Amino acid sequence: MQGAKILDERKDFIMFKDSCCGDGKINCEKESVSGAVSQRACVYCGARVVLNPITDAFHIVHGPIGCASYTWDIRGSLSSGSELYRNSFSTDLREEDIIFGGAKKLAAAIDEIVEKNSPKLIFVYATCIVGVIGDDVEAVCRKAEEKYKIRVIPVKAPGFSGTKSLGYKLACDAIMELILPHKDIPKTGGINIIGDFNLAGEMWIIKNYLNAIGLNTVSTITGDANYESLIKAPSAGLNIVQCAGSSVYLAKRMEEEMGIPFIKVSFFGIEDTTNSILRIAHAIGDENAIKRAEEFTKERSARAKEFISKYKPKLEGKKAAIYVGGGFKAISLIRQFNEMGIKTVMVGTQTGKKDEYEIIAKIVEKDTVVLDDANPSELEAFMKEKGADILVGGVKERPLAYKLGIAFCDHNHERKHALAGYEGVENFTKEVNLSLNSPVWGYVKG
Ligand code: SF4
Repeated sequence: MQGAKILDERKDFIMFKDSCCGDGKINCEKESVSGAVSQRACVYCGARVVLNPITDAFHIVHGPIGCASYTWDIRGSLSSGSELYRNSFSTDLREEDIIFGGAKKLAAAIDEIVEKNSPKLIFVYATCIVGVIGDDVEAVCRKAEEKYKIRVIPVKAPGFSGTKSLGYKLACDAIMELILPHKDIPKTGGINIIGDFNLAGEMWIIKNYLNAIGLNTVSTITGDANYESLIKAPSAGLNIVQCAGSSVYLAKRMEEEMGIPFIKVSFFGIEDTTNSILRIAHAIGDENAIKRAEEFTKERSARAKEFISKYKPKLEGKKAAIYVGGGFKAISLIRQFNEMGIKTVMVGTQTGKKDEYEIIAKIVEKDTVVLDDANPSELEAFMKEKGADILVGGVKERPLAYKLGIAFCDHNHERKHALAGYEGVENFTKEVNLSLNSPVWGYVKG
């Protein structure tokens, strides 16, 4: 840690592989250190990003208008049907509401939505100020459900009440509240795809793969989902979990309370996409699906490898820094960069878990720095120290990379090109190459 000024309280959240610092262990799954300006979003945002892709749901943000700035635009998930989810509704709490309470305003907002539309499903998010003034959001939602005979589900997610991970958990609880009453519907044996949000149409890519090997998708949670498809989820025979950080808790609850087993999958990179398709076929146990999966992955992975080989001479020897939301995605990205001949020199996550960091420590090369819940100052210091040529992250990391004069690839909610599956391998390779080898960096650094 030569160049980096690290707060003493942050030192345990950083490790170097095979060095004295950290000893292969890292502190994680904790609240952010005060004063460290975490890159994480708040609890409410965590809940919103998981639930927002449900295309025909209404999302009422009970709080000041500022919280409502987390809209569809921060997610970019696509829909094959309703576009309702692209609207945002807020009770716009003001000073008077803070003093006298906002419950009446919330009830009026629900009335207005029901009057002007015919909603089947409304989520009500309680934000920071509602956590402080103590509006009984649950009671308002319960009354609205009785009055209108629709689902009105409270998501009590004051931003200050924990980390973004708590928001994921609350969103999973809200989904359980929606689907639990349907838990005894007959089993069909199909698959639920959990933890994919159909960013740039990625859910459709995965669905097409399942289709290609003869497997049926029951429900998608929550990318391109709607009320009717969600309530069928209990009929599935297997859950596959793409974004483990946000959704493995839901899969565990569905296993315990509905008897649906789950496996974790990842569709980023050739190796993980191929393994995931084969593992799904084996988990279903259908001989025909296994045979088709073997043929399909053999053909598609060969094609993707050939594609990468054309770009490899321009990419080999470059150094990558990764800062993403969850550990499972970081693991896939390290492998994907290996496939491209690029070495990962820094890797961090907002909400990675202990077992994920253990895998990361095993697959990165010596002296790679690993960070949990980093701040911009640490990211800057380590990218400079390690000589990173490209940063892969989200919208909050983009300006940091550009200010340092290094390439950037958006692998977060706002991405416009699908990065999942074999199609994603091609898009990712092209994007990394375009950014890494852009002539602009010569002018910036020169
Ligand atoms: S931290 Fe609180 S006030 Fe800020 S967006 Fe989150 S819920 Fe709203």
